[in-house]
This record gives sequence, structure tokens and C-alpha cells, in this order.
Amino acid sequence: MSSKRKHGLIENIAEKLHLIPNLHNEVESELPRLTEPGQLTDYPPPDKWDDWVEYEATGWPRREAKNYMIVPTSCFNCEAGCGLLSYVNKETLEVRKFEGNPWHPASRGRNCAKGPATINQINDKDRILYPLKRKGKRGEGNWQRVSWDEVLDEIASRIRVTLKAGKNNEVAYHVGRPGHEGYMDRVLKAWGVDGHNSHTNICSAGARFGYAIWHGYDRPSPDHANAKFILLISAHLESGHYFNPHAQRIIEGMMNGAKLAVMDPRLSNTASMADYWMPTYPGSEAAVLLAMAKVILDEGLYNESFMKNWVNWQTYLKKEHPKIAVNFENFIGALKEEYKEYTPEFAEQESGVPAKMIIETAKQAGKAGTQLSTHNWRSAGSGNLGGWSVARCLHFLNVLTGSVGTIGGTSPSAWNKFKPNVFDSPPAVKFWNELHFPDEYPLAHYEMSQLLPHFLKEGRGKLSVYFTRVFNPVWTFPDGFTWIEALSDESKIGLHAALTPTWNETAYFADYVLPMGHSSERHDLISYETHSGLWIGFRQPVVREALRRMGKPVNFTYEANPGEVWEEDEFWIELSWRIDPDGSLGIKEHFISPYRKGEKIRIEEYYRHIFENTTGLPEKASEEGLTPLDYMRKYGAFEVETTSYNKHLAKLSKEELKSTEVDETNTIIKNGKAIGVMVHGTACSGFPTPSRKQEFYSQTIVDWGWPEYKIPVYIKSHIHEEKMDREKGEFPLLPTFRLPTLIHSRSSNAKWLTEISNRNPIWMHTSDAKKFGIKTGDLLRINTEIGYFIDRVWVTEGMKPGVVACSHHLGRWRRPHDEKGNRWATNLVDIQEVEKGKWKMRVLDGIRPYKSEDSDSSRIFWSDGGVHQNITFPVHPDPISGMHCWHQKVRIEKARADDKYGDLFVDTNKSFEVYKEWLKMTRPAPGPDGLRRPLWFNRPLRPVDEMYFIGKKQDN
Ligand code: SF4
Repeated sequence: MSSKRKHGLIENIAEKLHLIPNLHNEVESELPRLTEPGQLTDYPPPDKWDDWVEYEATGWPRREAKNYMIVPTSCFNCEAGCGLLSYVNKETLEVRKFEGNPWHPASRGRNCAKGPATINQINDKDRILYPLKRKGKRGEGNWQRVSWDEVLDEIASRIRVTLKAGKNNEVAYHVGRPGHEGYMDRVLKAWGVDGHNSHTNICSAGARFGYAIWHGYDRPSPDHANAKFILLISAHLESGHYFNPHAQRIIEGMMNGAKLAVMDPRLSNTASMADYWMPTYPGSEAAVLLAMAKVILDEGLYNESFMKNWVNWQTYLKKEHPKIAVNFENFIGALKEEYKEYTPEFAEQESGVPAKMIIETAKQAGKAGTQLSTHNWRSAGSGNLGGWSVARCLHFLNVLTGSVGTIGGTSPSAWNKFKPNVFDSPPAVKFWNELHFPDEYPLAHYEMSQLLPHFLKEGRGKLSVYFTRVFNPVWTFPDGFTWIEALSDESKIGLHAALTPTWNETAYFADYVLPMGHSSERHDLISYETHSGLWIGFRQPVVREALRRMGKPVNFTYEANPGEVWEEDEFWIELSWRIDPDGSLGIKEHFISPYRKGEKIRIEEYYRHIFENTTGLPEKASEEGLTPLDYMRKYGAFEVETTSYNKHLAKLSKEELKSTEVDETNTIIKNGKAIGVMVHGTACSGFPTPSRKQEFYSQTIVDWGWPEYKIPVYIKSHIHEEKMDREKGEFPLLPTFRLPTLIHSRSSNAKWLTEISNRNPIWMHTSDAKKFGIKTGDLLRINTEIGYFIDRVWVTEGMKPGVVACSHHLGRWRRPHDEKGNRWATNLVDIQEVEKGKWKMRVLDGIRPYKSEDSDSSRIFWSDGGVHQNITFPVHPDPISGMHCWHQKVRIEKARADDKYGDLFVDTNKSFEVYKEWLKMTRPAPGPDGLRRPLWFNRPLRPVDEMYFIGKKQDN
């Protein structure tokens, strides 16, 4: 169908006057690929990037020509890692602006609002420019400037003493947004510590587990652009994971005729664009998905060939139906029987989504066949007890339709994610840190990071050196006051170093605050599963690179950065050398240049080695007479593979096939282990599971004590309707949704972004508001299990009745004695511990204009900084995936007489009790053979296999 339309008279005139682009040059249905040569009309061509002239916008009406050097880098404001072009003024070396990089294969020149707002962050007058050491007690807010030498020597000496004493488990590195490919794992391995901790269990571990239990890969990579039907759990068109790269491709898919269905209790911008908005009761998504699966089965819309070859159905039949013949027809019959109760009517009763819509979307999904793209990242997977089953049931639809790894289907993440070839790989560590992977959570997909302060409180261990890096648990995690208590206690955490570009609520409780660069002030290698290709992006310090091009190279990035802002890569190299000055700990040897014998590695050498060993990059670079490193410096990105489909069909080599046998399920066995699958006479590598197939039936789950979840089922959430006493004003609260313009606690120092979004009211449906006599703007007291917070209400038709929601971005704070930071977004608060463990916070003042070198700071017109809700939530660790289940059962009442907007109260004694209650739900290790975790389950910083067994001696 033609997408051309007739243009009006005014449009035609405006076009002729060049006031608007030429509308008659529209390309039918397909968006222009901005990376293709000849179509870079919106961007300066790369051959002019070393000397680009633009007129200064603020100079108008004068014509002030400015000379820029255009240097690519990568955005660090969310996980998508989109390409940016920085415009470095050649005279002043100031960065003037950031725009999209059309040579980036994922973002293709486009960005969301947060990309260009990087300029606010680097010019933020409140940012930290020098290393600081606390004076007085931790948390008192007194700081003194120190030298980097002092910082490095003191931290290195403490780590050295700790390692020499064999207390390797007392060194921990806790990361928020990693933003790099494996750099830190290598450092920690070199130190010999099982010290990696992350934010993943409060982020995406739930959905990851649901995917991993199917096929070993823990994230989806939907090929939206080529799909016929797109099914999203939550708001991925506007804000979810990889949303700018995804949004482009969802729209491309829709322009090519794909239908979009969105499950979300909230009428998000994404849902408003959808063909089907499915406002599920939170936690009921798996019920709807299984009802869709039932329709697909009953209608015969399943992909027999894929399922026959790639699902472990024979194992399922043998284990669960030993009396019937093992054939595919019986499997389908058994499946229909298993799911017969998941009728659309049952799903409607659980979810509130009309059965008719469930049937219609199921048929559409079934008819899309191999072109069904689906996505679940956080949302339902992160909100609910058993949330991991949402991803498991969603992927079931891909398995049924055979849309796993296909054009227009959904691939495993790893197929679209690059693995760098690093110059040196230290051996796996011989420690198992039970502060991160405790025996109670043997299947936890990532570290039980949210429980760390509780573990410390219980005396399970302590930390000698604790790094937090781009990580702000006091604000971002649940139960922030328990974090404050732990961070304030020097007997539990000996030294806390906060690596951060800007002040945050966790850094207030550090011993050292170490300023690290924003995205244009650091190196990183990045690669994400944004679409069906494979790419790498190079984040580089743009002023350093500009100086190099001008013939004025510097030795370290901090020499080109503002103040004494370091980049982490160089920090870890310097620190590692100082931990092991004489090489006796075996650490230093991992930080030696691969190009200069015995010399300390320089950061450009680290990346040079990776780029020289990236498939296709040396050849591509040589076409332009460049080295691979210079190619990446010039373009900032490289497409390793244009498309990456069906990698499970990779053929096994003759060598791999030596001494193998094929069993009756067509599985290829070598030394008792499955290594592949025979499909139509070809030996294929398959998926990284014990069966090498998609595991509909999970022996692992059975073996580890959860037989009720052996196949995909619906698990009722901890906020299921049955748990609500509506008469008492109880509601499920969704506290997780993202705003498109903000990102966790990271965007608070971007004035453009906080100007757009600066409050987080409670979304409530009109009918609920009417029932309670509430109107927009009224103050509500939201009671959680451990306290309450006071927020305003926004009454809207865009919320599912019976459910309330609150965006998690807002409510940043600082106390009067804290250093001023993020003043575009931080409320001034008073915090009092009124009794042991009973904490009160009151907002003393909101956002105010202030005088600074940035004249915009005196023009702040908003005063509302939002409300900090996360700190009033207890931990809710899912007993299987380990994911924090974010959704809350809350009791809503009108604010009391002395309640003020932003007030909150928390009792950490109660939060400890809630932690204990959830701990009781676990079914701890050991599993089979004395294992503390299934051997086939990977881990960040995977130790030697021996450490997977309980009771094995840890090395020292
Ligand atoms: S989606 Fe936006 S914030 Fe995320 S990397 Fe891209 S431009 Fe940056």
C-alpha cells in the first residue's frame, strides 16, 4: 500500500520556500538507513569531522562561525549505548553539543532526549571535580580534598593487607550500570576475589531467569523490524530496555504492517500506540500468555517442525506420562491437557483483559508464525513473586510458533552481543562469596545484592573494602534506611569508596568520593542486543581524542577531563599496580602491555588489542588506510554482523563429533553430555542447556526442589487480588515504571530532563478516586509493610481500575549538611532516627532557583522534586530467581492533619522481619551432588567449577 499522501497548498508553498523538507521525496514504507553512504544529509560527512564549521546559535543575529572537531562516543544514560557525536570547539576544547551518530548500527543517528542532554551533565556546576575524603564520622557530611595518589595508596594498601590475610571475600565491587563489556570481571579475577555484585536482582533478574531456564540465554532480542506481530510486556516503545533502538524498529515493523499488542496496567505512551492495549491486573500476565498458548494449540497454529526438533518433549513425556507412547502427537495431546484450565475466560477473570481480546491476539500471534517478536525485561518480570514465569510463558509463545532466532522472531540475546577478545585472561577465582550467592538462593540468577545489608546485620560476613560504582542503593534499592544503617557502621564496612560523576544519596555515606567521567570522558567497549545484528560501540573521552588529533596527546584521560576527573579503566590499572607493587600477589602481571614488554598497559593498548582481534574490523579499517583502533576512534562503532539468525543451527565440527552417539531423542552425546542435536541429518550445536534443546520440561527445577514449576505455569503474585482487603483501602502499587526522559538516579544533573519531568504522583483511576472522594492534587498516605510515604494523586482514565502506580524516578534528596548536588532535582530533607530503627524524613524545601555560573539555575520554575517511594519498601526476594519483587500491597488513606507532601517513615526492624519472612520461602542448597548451584547455570565472574560444590576449600 502506498504511504504517499496529497500535500496541501501551504505545505507545497512551505516546501518550495525550503521552510520544510521536501515532502515529495518521501520513501515508501521504508525509513532511510542513515548509515548508508549518500544519505547522510542530516549529518556532517565524516571526511569533514576534523574541521567542521557551524554558526553559533546563541550568537544570532550575528554570524559567529565556530570550528569544531566532531568526535564520536556513546551515550551512558541508559543501557542502549546509542551513538553520539560530540562537537569539540577547536579553540576552547569545550564540548558544544551532542547529536546522534549516523554510523552507529543500532541507534542510526537517532537518540532519545537523554542522549543530547549529556551536555548538561558534563557542564553541571554541582558535579564533583576532585577526590574527597570524609572528615569526622561517616555520613556527617564533612569532606576534604585529597590527592589521587593518597586515594590510590590507601585503598591499595588496605586491599593488599586483606588479600594477604586470605580474606578475599571481604573485597567487593558493586556496580549500577556496567556500561562496558567485561572490563571489571577481568580486574576482579586478577585480584582473585569473588567480589562482583550488581544491581541486576532489583532490575531484570526475574525475566532473565524465565528465559534462561528455557534455553540458557537470559534475555530476548526481538527482531521487531521484520515482525508481523509484536507483543510487549510493558512500555518498550517509549522507555523500556534498549528503547530508542527498539522504538525505531517497532515503528518500522508497524509501518510494514505488524500489529502491536502491549500488556500494561497503565496506559503508557506505548500502550496508546498499540493495536491492542491489554491492561492486565499486575502479576496475571502469565495467565493471559498461557491462555494465548492454549488458543494457539487448540487452533493448530503451532509450528510442528520447530517443536518436534527443538523442544525436549520426549523427556517430558517419559517423566510425566510414562505409560503413553513417546510420540509428538501424544505430546500435543498432553500439552492440551496440561493447559486446558487456562481458558481465555479464566485469564479474563485473573487479568481483567477481555477473553475476546485474548483470543484475537493469540490468533494473530499464532498466524504471525516465525515472525512473532516479543519482549519482557523488567515490568511484570520484576514486580511479582514468580515474575520470572511471565518471561517463561511469553517465550513459550515463541517456542510454539517456532519464532526463536528467526527473521521477525525473537533471538537469544547472546547471538546479538559481542564478546571481546581481551589481551589477557586471568584464571577463574577459587572463592565463593556467600554474601553475594548464599545457599538459600541456589537458583538466583544474579547476586542477592538487595540482601547485602541484611546479611551484614546478621553477621554473615563483613567487608574490608567496598566500592560502589555508578550505584546508589540508598535511593534506588528498596529498604534504603537499612542501607544507611549498614553503610554507617564501620565494623561492617571498613572502607567505602564511591565512584561517581556526581553526588548521590549513597556517596554521602562513603569514606572516599571519587569523581569519574561521564560518557564523553571515559573509554568503554559496548555491545547490546538491540536488533538482529551484532555491533560494537566505542565510548571514548572526546577531548582527549580531539587533543590527540591535534597532535597534543595526553597520557591519562584525567589530563583532558575537567578538574581531576578520572576514568575508571585507568583507575583500576593504577590501583592494581599499587596493590601488588612487586608482583608477588600475581596481580600486576595482568596489567602489563601486550605491546611493550614489562611496561604498564596503557588504556589505548587495551582497546587496540580488542579491535585488532575483532572479526572484519582490521579489513574494514584498512580499506580506509586506518588501523582498527583509529577506525573506531573515527566512527565510534562497527557492525560485526548485519544479521544474526538461527545460530542454534551452527554445524558441529568433525573434531567435535568424534566419539559421539545420537540417542533416541536425536540428541548428540559426548562423554555422557549433550553437545548438540541432529536435525534433518545435520549435527547442530543447539542451545546451551543440558538437553541442547528448548527446555519445556525443566529437570533442573525438579532437581532443585520446585517440581510444581517443572513446566511453564502461572504463579500467583504476592499482590494477587486474593491478598487485597479492598474495604481497608488496599491496592497493588506499581512502583517501577520509567519516564521516557529520566533514568533512575542518573539523570538528575541534566537540567533539560528535570525541567521536563520533575514529579511522580500516584496514578489512580477515576472510579477509584470517586469511591474514596479523592481528586487530583489531594495528598494521600501510602502505607507499606514497613512505613509510609505522602504523595499527591493524579486521577486519570489511563490507569487500570483497582491498581495504582508511581514512577520510580523522582524524590531525590540531600540533607542540609550534605554537599550540594543535582540541585535541579533534589529536595532538601531532614532525616531523624526517632527511635532505634525508626526513621522519619521530612522535606524542608523543594527545588529552588539558585545562583551559579549557569544562568539557567536562577530560572528554575518548578519546585516539586517528587517523593522517594523506594525507601519505604521492604525487600521481597523471589525464592527462585532471587529477583526483588517490586510491586507492593499498600493501604491508601487520605493524608493526616500533620502529614506533609514528601514525608515518609520507615521502621527497619519491620523490614528485617519482612526479609526473614521471605527467606522462609526458600528451598536452600545443596542440590544434587552437594552442589550449591546447578553447574550449567552461569554467574557473573564465574569461579572454578569446584567452588560450585558446598564445603570445598576456598583458596588463599
Ligand atoms: S536510548 Fe537515550 S538514554 Fe539510552 S543510550 Fe540511547 S540516547 Fe542514551
